[in-house]
Amino acid sequence: MDLKAKLRHVMDFPKEGIDFIDITTVLQDAEAFKACMDSFKDYAEQLGDFDVIVGSESRGFIFGAPLACQMGKGFVPVRKKGKLPYKTIRVEYDLEYGQDVLEMHEDAVKPGQRVLIVDDLLATGGTTEANIKLVEQLGGEVAGIIYFIELGFLEGRKKLEGYKVNSIVTF
Ligand code: 5GP
Repeated sequence: MDLKAKLRHVMDFPKEGIDFIDITTVLQDAEAFKACMDSFKDYAEQLGDFDVIVGSESRGFIFGAPLACQMGKGFVPVRKKGKLPYKTIRVEYDLEYGQDVLEMHEDAVKPGQRVLIVDDLLATGGTTEANIKLVEQLGGEVAGIIYFIELGFLEGRKKLEGYKVNSIVTF
């Protein structure tokens, strides 16, 4: 299936000049969503065994949680500041449209666990870098990273050298 053709481009969102890629047109289409999840699973199976999937708020949850459930793995949410109820570790990071803080529960990843990071889109790589820092701070090993969409022209992969990175569609 041509998933690229199913994505909607929204100009000037959330700021003027940004060509925002809207994934909801894929999510609302049962066949397209299934094809997308199947591709995530195919890439995940190529990574060898892993223990847990990490996805960050909020679109990382949409793909990460069902993939974890389907593959018989746990899911760890990474959230914005102050949203997680238990003790957290945190990292400050730069994102495409500003700066923010991401947090993870301090017992969410165990030392030595192999972790798959999942997100909807790779732009500059800042969000993923923050996810990697959280995982590695807890002694986890990043088994791989899978995106639905990669904005190749932003060269986010350069920040992720040394990690196994896959994306389903690239612009
Ligand atoms: P990065 O940290 O790689 O610069 O930005 C990636 C993050 O920003 C992802 O978590 C993603 O959800 C969000 N993002 C940035 N641009 C877009 C876009 O055009 N479409 C979507 N769906 N998400 C975006």
